[in-house]
Amino acid sequence: MSECEICGKEVPIPIKAKIEESILNVCDKCVHFGEKIDLPQRAAKNIKLLAKVELNEIILLENYGNIIKNTREKMKLSRTEFAQKIMEKENIIRRIEMSDLKPDNKLLDKIEIFLNINLKEKNEQKLQKKDTKKAELTMGDVVEVK
Ligand SMILES: [Zn+2]
Repeated sequence: MSECEICGKEVPIPIKAKIEESILNVCDKCVHFGEKIDLPQRAAKNIKLLAKVELNEIILLENYGNIIKNTREKMKLSRTEFAQKIMEKENIIRRIEMSDLKPDNKLLDKIEIFLNINLKEKNEQKLQKKDTKKAELTMGDVVEVK
């Protein structure tokens, strides 16, 4: 059973629809929000992956600048030292700490890992649910192998 990516209703056979430049699996009611499409399997799969990436677009916590600044100060690092450690320009770090600039994914990862913090809003419950299912499946497989 799949879920409609718009309303969350369970649908046995989701319909692919192009909605605002994304390809989504939707139910028969939500298909009206966009344009129904029919794609060859492989292409559909690729586009679905792309759509997933778009869905996974990060939303930063509102006070990410403060969190970074406070954590850095707790670690007794100057802004210059911190910038050097993660190989970024101090100017960029300064702007990020002022919440004046949003780090891109790559930089965000570096900052999060280095400071051991999380700056993302948890907005991807749907994806997390899928990941959980996958994890369960893997565990089941392991048990079977034993
Ligand atoms: Zn729906």
